[in-house]
Amino acid sequence: MNTYQTLLDYCQIHNTTLVAVSKTKPIEAIQELYDQGQRIFGENRVQELTQKHEAMANDIEWHMIGHLQTNKVKFIAPFVSMIHSGDRISLLKEINKEAAKVNRVIDVLLQVKIAQEDSKYGWSESELHEALEGETIQKYEHLNIRGVMGMATFTDKENQVRAEFKTLKDCFDKIKSNIFEQKNDFDIISMGMSGDYKIAIQEGSNMVRVGSLLFGARG
Ligand SMILES: *Cc1c(COP(=O)(O)O)cnc(C)c1O
Repeated sequence: MNTYQTLLDYCQIHNTTLVAVSKTKPIEAIQELYDQGQRIFGENRVQELTQKHEAMANDIEWHMIGHLQTNKVKFIAPFVSMIHSGDRISLLKEINKEAAKVNRVIDVLLQVKIAQEDSKYGWSESELHEALEGETIQKYEHLNIRGVMGMATFTDKENQVRAEFKTLKDCFDKIKSNIFEQKNDFDIISMGMSGDYKIAIQEGSNMVRVGSLLFGARG
């Protein structure tokens, strides 16, 4: 079996959704996975995402996984199927506004900062709780908050990565029980990449974002 089929089987056995992260990779490489059945692809730049969306079949679900500038939301609002990087109120507000203009409800994940490295975007747990309890976010009718997303520290210390994933699972559980208990579709924990997806799944991930393992290393 090829790498894609092996990974897909692994994800399916573990009830985990596979997002194939195709950033920097050409259309032909994406098409190859598409032909094997993959329909969910993740990109981290608006321009690249938009171009690839235009060039490819329209049954692809495009996920925005990278940091998103507020003034660029309008370019992806008409088609993006999920935004993983919901990391601040001003962005959520803008997504709500642009989704309303095109009469859509966009699935959004709340990006939580779990890594010790301080270069990563995302809410701290306490900021997130405060924001959600403030209720403004819950009034945004054109976004559907589906869960959380996080990235572990880039390190080969497995214990640290595992602990960071545990933190995100914990955070998800708390938000679920304190705020979204009645919301059945608050159900996604997006964590795990090429180097750590197995640990992530063990710690409760149900959506992994895998790039280099599928497409080869990026330049
Ligand atoms: C690039 C990227 C990935 C995939 O990383 P790989 O190590 O290539 O699997 C996952 N998530 C985000 C947010 C990314 O930017």
